Amino acid sequence: MTISNEASRLAGALSRAVAGPVLQPDDTGFADELASFQLGLRHRPDLVVGARDADDVRAVVRFAGENGVPLTVHSTGHGMCLAADGGIVLTVRRLNGVVVDPIDRTARVEGGTTWGDVAAAAAPHGLVPPSGSMASVGAVGYTFGGGISLLGRSDGWASDFVRSFTVVTADGEERQVDENDTETFARLRGTGPLPGEVVTAMTIRLLPEGALQGGGLTFDIGASDAEGDSAVLHAFREWTAGAPDEITSTLRVMAFPDGDFLPPPLRGRRIARVAIAMRGTAEDADRLVAPLRKAAQTIEDTLAPMPFTESARVHAEPDTPGPYIGENVLIDTLDPTALETLARPNGHTMVIMNIRHLGGALSRTPVVPDTVRGRNARYLVAAVSPVDPEVSVSDPSAAHEQASPAWALEPFVPAQVGVSPGFTVGPRGKN
Ligand SMILES: Cc1cc2nc3c(=O)[nH]c(=O)nc-3n(C[C@H](O)[C@H](O)[C@H](O)COP(=O)(O)OP(=O)(O)OC[C@H]3O[C@@H](n4cnc5c(N)ncnc54)[C@H](O)[C@@H]3O)c2cc1C
Repeated sequence: MTISNEASRLAGALSRAVAGPVLQPDDTGFADELASFQLGLRHRPDLVVGARDADDVRAVVRFAGENGVPLTVHSTGHGMCLAADGGIVLTVRRLNGVVVDPIDRTARVEGGTTWGDVAAAAAPHGLVPPSGSMASVGAVGYTFGGGISLLGRSDGWASDFVRSFTVVTADGEERQVDENDTETFARLRGTGPLPGEVVTAMTIRLLPEGALQGGGLTFDIGASDAEGDSAVLHAFREWTAGAPDEITSTLRVMAFPDGDFLPPPLRGRRIARVAIAMRGTAEDADRLVAPLRKAAQTIEDTLAPMPFTESARVHAEPDTPGPYIGENVLIDTLDPTALETLARPNGHTMVIMNIRHLGGALSRTPVVPDTVRGRNARYLVAAVSPVDPEVSVSDPSAAHEQASPAWALEPFVPAQVGVSPGFTVGPRGKN
């Protein structure tokens, strides 16, 4: 049952029960409340409720349960796979408090907090969280998928850092879930919540900041419409095969169209960039990346000491919302022939291929069992392609068919050992 017919009455009842905004589709602020990094999907609920605190979450979950109304949780929208059609969308972005315990080296992170906010709260104490490539990603949503952090090969999965979750279960009751609740704790770390469950906070370990070396080596490997020079790609494969656990890196390859909306160095060019992060001295970093620097002439080299609060510069991804589909394969070997395909024209531009080097601490058996996928993998190959937002919003299934980057992953499939849910995003056509 949806609540469309009774929306006004129920909106009134909910407004009396919660402190945050309760909005119907014609209300001012409805679209803004549903703001999302993913523009290829749009929630179309009967009501959107912006939770101000955990009491609001409990009230909304209870209300949805009592009235048989479907409930969808929306944080930043980076990982959206499905668009709600009717029901209630509960936005959690106002749950953004971070309390750092510098003695215990932990942080209590509310359910809608971004990693950027966690890093900013931890920094004055000389501590850092297990955050990833982009500061605007939600800390809790990221951790559900395991969370491959910037320093993952030395530190492990973000989910390894979780001490406990505060969860409002579908009956509206709040529970603390930690290692004593083996099954739920394992499910939340790697698979995520059940429908109707909301995590209002998690407590995570933090690490001492140390000296972070981070940045990227960028190479022009040829014209987008011609066979490129794959030397850097092979250098990445050989280099990562022997790289120590202290260094975490990602190879990104993208063919840019020949458009004047792009800066000249990118127009019509195939660009490879290796993002690198490690703790250590600048001398250590220079010594370790020397083989990559020798592989070809860089067009940009930003590897340098940096404060952790600026670590989004390591991957240098544009933090601008857009419509996209993301698919991935976890693989146990990086086949040179598969790698070669990244240097070849294929009729597609603006498809981003990311090869994240896993292993190291990411392959260790967890101290507390979890459901994370990828401990048996050496690399994650993720493909992101743009999708037409109009088609995508009106017919996600057709859009997925048209724009899916699965073809780009095909060459890597023979070495596949799994799929990472955290990197599967966009209109999957499941709704
Ligand atoms: C540009 C970009 C960079 C990324 N970088 C990394 C990276 O470096 N490492 C990595 O591991 N992953 C990375 N990811 C993947 C990211 O971790 C996932 O997309 C994740 O799902 C995002 O979570 P979110 O809360 O920000 O997004 P949302 O789309 O808002 O949420 C994702 C899912 O979690 C649910 N959810 C979120 N918060 C709660 C809550 N409090 N309670 C209950 N359910 C909740 C939502 O309902 C939704 O189903 C990246 C993604 C993008 C788009």
